[in-house]
Amino acid sequence: MLGLMQDRPLLISSLIEHAARFHGKTEIVSNLPEGGMHRSNWSEMASLSRKLSAGLGTLGVDRGDRVATLAWNSFRHLALYYGVSGSGAVLHTVNPRLFPEQIEYIVNHAEDTVLCFDLAFADMVEALAPHWPSVKAYVALCGPNDMKPWKLPGLLCFDEWVAKQPDGGSWPEFDERSASSLCYTSGTTGNPKGVLYSHRSTVLHSLMALSSDTYGVNTGETLLLIVPMFHANAWGTPYAAAMAGSKLVLPGQHLDGESVYRLLRDEKVTYSQGVPTVWSMLFQHLDEHPNIDPAALSMRRVGIGGAAVSQGMLQRFERQFNAQVLQGWGMTETSPLGVVNKPLPKHTALTQDERLAVKLKQGRGMWGVELRLVDDAGQNLPWDGTRAGRLKVRGPWVASGYFKGEGGDVVDEQGFFDTGDIATIDPDGYLKLVDRAKDVIKSGGEWISSIDIENAAVTHPAAAEAAVIGVPHPKWQERPLLLVVRKPGCELDQSSMLSHLQTRVVKWWLPDQVLFVESLPRTPTGKLLKTQLRDLYVKSGVAGRLNS
Ligand code: ADP
Repeated sequence: MLGLMQDRPLLISSLIEHAARFHGKTEIVSNLPEGGMHRSNWSEMASLSRKLSAGLGTLGVDRGDRVATLAWNSFRHLALYYGVSGSGAVLHTVNPRLFPEQIEYIVNHAEDTVLCFDLAFADMVEALAPHWPSVKAYVALCGPNDMKPWKLPGLLCFDEWVAKQPDGGSWPEFDERSASSLCYTSGTTGNPKGVLYSHRSTVLHSLMALSSDTYGVNTGETLLLIVPMFHANAWGTPYAAAMAGSKLVLPGQHLDGESVYRLLRDEKVTYSQGVPTVWSMLFQHLDEHPNIDPAALSMRRVGIGGAAVSQGMLQRFERQFNAQVLQGWGMTETSPLGVVNKPLPKHTALTQDERLAVKLKQGRGMWGVELRLVDDAGQNLPWDGTRAGRLKVRGPWVASGYFKGEGGDVVDEQGFFDTGDIATIDPDGYLKLVDRAKDVIKSGGEWISSIDIENAAVTHPAAAEAAVIGVPHPKWQERPLLLVVRKPGCELDQSSMLSHLQTRVVKWWLPDQVLFVESLPRTPTGKLLKTQLRDLYVKSGVAGRLNS
């Protein structure tokens, strides 16, 4: 027997209409790519999105057609989030930090019909356009004064084009399982693969982002959205902010420490989200301006994910900003909310060090994301906080496959997706990431966590960044090699680093060797490029030579 409740589809258009109706005057502030601040609100955003949807109709964009963006976080990009998906088309957020060959590939793979671009990417778009036969129209995300005669078919100026469209149309209704947006993973191995979100997955994911046991996005919030809108739907925050009716601050491409600080200060931001690299840049700015008092800012919560949070970063936010750090783990394939670190009531009884150890874990499971740990044979492992295994996930906002079937079957017989991460889970359900499966170091049959060693290394006051990779060893299979970037003007040598690590990691994890380097290569999404480090220091024999 079926229930008798109304079967209303969970559609993204409902979020923007809700925000306009109940939080119409709540501001959306945008640091424009072309310079200057733009101030708008949820009511104006809903109107802009509806007009945009009408404009897409005039271009012949149909349901399911892909509309690409190459853009930073701005009010125009936000209007595309709602206007494109709301009309039933699919918003394809292209990561401009990918290599041009990858960008060329994914626009063709997605068969985008319209491509909207920030001025900063105009040259790249002009160069690649002849290789994109599916794109029939290009939209420059700017006003008429910034238009240039780029050689692009069907070129439109966003502000002019949208202003001409009628407002007042209602959003179409369709199956909530329809595709809403498309985001390609950065593809450290092989071509990037498309993760295709649905309206249903996006709305359910937003609901969970509002839970006070995760990020607790709410009405009273001023939210600085640092995570790029081309990266996993900016962690779903543009949708969650509309559902909650938060004030939204969009930084454009200005993610340097000074710009982020100014936005935090001037807009009285209460909550922000970003990867550790961005926060390191903010800290550097504060180091250079010791007269700034971070506690005078209004920011009381910081969401950090994408890479592990170091002890130094966590404590600095707590002590200097008086802000709570909410570490999260997730990936493009999980929309990306997977786990979030929030304390349990019983943790108040712990010592400071014990609490710190809990806080440094990636986070605790939430409703909607089932977790599983398995060994190499696929057998379930206990959640004892020590046994490490492959992490698998299942849930309504987890990918069931990649766009156009790339990569084949990606879920097991029970529907669990293999994340490619190695983790432990403790009896309370807190997940601790050991490594990515492809980066894990196996020594004497046991796993060594490169993340733990890296985190311990950067607690040294003279260390700016650290990376650990495995070097083949005749007796132990692999041993860790530590690469360190010194802080400018600081002295640091191998023995000082090793004695620092001695009290912080178990003895058999101590790196066999420490190398000092100028910089560490990173992927377009800011992750350490360990494949390149292995090529540079292991395959080339540099590590071995230095050892002998
Ligand atoms: P990519 O396109 O590189 O897969 P994602 O943003 O999807 O980009 O990356 C997801 C991966 O990032 C996870 O599988 C995990 O390895 C890593 N990651 C995410 N959050 C954390 C975290 N809090 N700590 C450590 N690693 C993390």
